[in-house]
Amino acid sequence: MSTILVSGGAGFVGSHLCRKLLTQGHTVLCLDNLYTGSADNISDLNESSRFVFSVHDVTVPYPAKKIDYIFNLACPASPVHYQAQPVTTFKTAVIGTINMLELARQCGARLLQASTSEIYGDPLVHPQPETYWGNVNPIGIRSCYDEGKRAGETLCADYERQFGTEVRIARIFNTYGPSMNRNDGRVVSNFIIQALEKKPLTIYGDGSQTRSFCYVDDLVEGLIRLMNHPENPGPVNLGNSGEFTVRELAELILSKTGSPSEIISMPLPGDDPKVRQPDLSRAKKFLDWSPQIPLSEGLD
Ligand code: NAD
Ligand code: UDP
Repeated sequence: MSTILVSGGAGFVGSHLCRKLLTQGHTVLCLDNLYTGSADNISDLNESSRFVFSVHDVTVPYPAKKIDYIFNLACPASPVHYQAQPVTTFKTAVIGTINMLELARQCGARLLQASTSEIYGDPLVHPQPETYWGNVNPIGIRSCYDEGKRAGETLCADYERQFGTEVRIARIFNTYGPSMNRNDGRVVSNFIIQALEKKPLTIYGDGSQTRSFCYVDDLVEGLIRLMNHPENPGPVNLGNSGEFTVRELAELILSKTGSPSEIISMPLPGDDPKVRQPDLSRAKKFLDWSPQIPLSEGLD
């Protein structure tokens, strides 16, 4: 059994990952500054003697311990939250990743970087394979996140080249599931909460933009398989290839909840990608992984 550090472990994906790693018998050290995460997400995990939670900001170096694996998830992921603190977001994505890579180098640990489909920006290639270098605005309102995550990938590649640090890069596409914060601001949780509260569902723009939604259990399985892969296969897309317009998502949630809510249109934020769908061939080839839970089932 291994000692595994999860940065951002009190967040949405991180808390599911910590839970799964504990059930596999590992010791889990969860670091989080609770910017978007919450102690409630991990309250059940504190019962395990193999779970240690430390309030820590990854922009501050973490003293070296015996650690075998590091999942580097610390970073706000919802546009509302990363845009509220863009400079802090960029520092977390860059300085935080340097600190986690330094720790990996000192401990001889393997690090998995939680990267994102956002590195493809507003993509001109569709669906997006890992070989696509993207179409990113360097000075827009999403750039603190997109460019921060791109720099995070660069740092991983350079730590591997310069120091021989073992790295894995997961490019995560839109993921949803239980324990998303009700104030998270991302589309699936927004629409569900609005529908249940009988408030208007807020479509940004005309709702023709698309996203491909992955259930969190599928993602966690993919992350663990990628970490355990014996070699670095290069960046790997993890997501679900089922692609929906935002309007289709709103209508699906209205029909499932039976909500009387209306759909209203709000201004489209700047640089909002028009389409997004993962090419999952690499995940299938190297990890024998593909998502099992379609959107309709995951929403239930
Ligand atoms: P989240 O906001 O719920 O979780 C992020 C966690 O990181 C939170 O607990 C937050 O408090 C913590 N954090 C932020 N800054 C920190 C800092 N400086 N030091 C320590 N902790 C810090 O988001 P999530 O959806 O769980 O995303 C987790 C990771 O996966 C992120 O790196 C995100 O970029 C990546 N990702 C997620 C998605 C998705 O759809 N969920 C898609 C692409 C990439
Ligand atoms: N969106 C929306 N209404 C909302 C929240 C989001 O129409 O209440 C749209 C948003 O403009 C984007 C898509 O839904 O086109 C996905 O947004 P989200 O913030 O979930 O993730 P993104 O993929 O943009 O990072």
